[in-house]
Amino acid sequence: MELIDSHAHIQGKEFAGEADALIARAGEAGVEKIIAVGGAGDMSSNTEAVALAQSFPNVYATVGMHPHDAKDVGDDVLGAIRELTSHSKVIAVGETGLDYYYNHSPHDVQRRVFIQFIHMARETALPIVVHERDAAHDAVEMLRTEGGGKLRGVIHCFTGTYEAAREYLDLGFYLSFTGIITFKNAEPLREVVRKVPLQRMFVETDSPYLTPVPHRGKRNEPAYVRFVADMVAKIKTVSLEEVARTTTCNVRELFRF
Ligand SMILES: [Zn+2]
Ligand SMILES: [Zn+2]
Repeated sequence: MELIDSHAHIQGKEFAGEADALIARAGEAGVEKIIAVGGAGDMSSNTEAVALAQSFPNVYATVGMHPHDAKDVGDDVLGAIRELTSHSKVIAVGETGLDYYYNHSPHDVQRRVFIQFIHMARETALPIVVHERDAAHDAVEMLRTEGGGKLRGVIHCFTGTYEAAREYLDLGFYLSFTGIITFKNAEPLREVVRKVPLQRMFVETDSPYLTPVPHRGKRNEPAYVRFVADMVAKIKTVSLEEVARTTTCNVRELFRF
């Protein structure tokens, strides 16, 4: 069985000095690749994601800046991120997007920076990794108008409605699901998983956050993506092997491994 953890922040301080053990445990759990997602916090999360990708053959990196930190994104940061996109193991721009739930950056600033990253993805011909919370209307609109019909990507940690899911699917985007789908109160989201075609889905951990049941409450890590895939299998009444095979194929298709 081959799984891919399509979104993990393994470069974070939570895992300092543990990369070897972490990646080995993932391998034992059938996780053949890990996407180290940059842009959580500051520029070091990007450079460290790229450094991990350089050190480990089965780790790839994305570079961007989280919408929480959009207020700190000036031309210098954008330039530095743009430079990192030319690294051979950087496979996407992100994470970027809109978060109207926490509002750590003003909405207009989030929108400006999101547009800049959409343009960067187009110019570099890389897919985009989108974080969107309580902002589906604006995100869909911006991906459509600024993406110019050529942009491809994934909406990571999807927690929205089926109507929003439909809009993203119509734009050609993939939807990625986390351990949230294993949580007791997530029945509405499981209903969305039931309706979204497996051929358009990724699974991810978003480590170190969102730890799936049965490890909820502990630190999350890429090996646990298996529990997310297992829940998808249960919801869709297919085998875990089929979920692994199809989602892995989807991730490979988008990121062109
Ligand atoms: Zn996110
Ligand atoms: Zn993330």
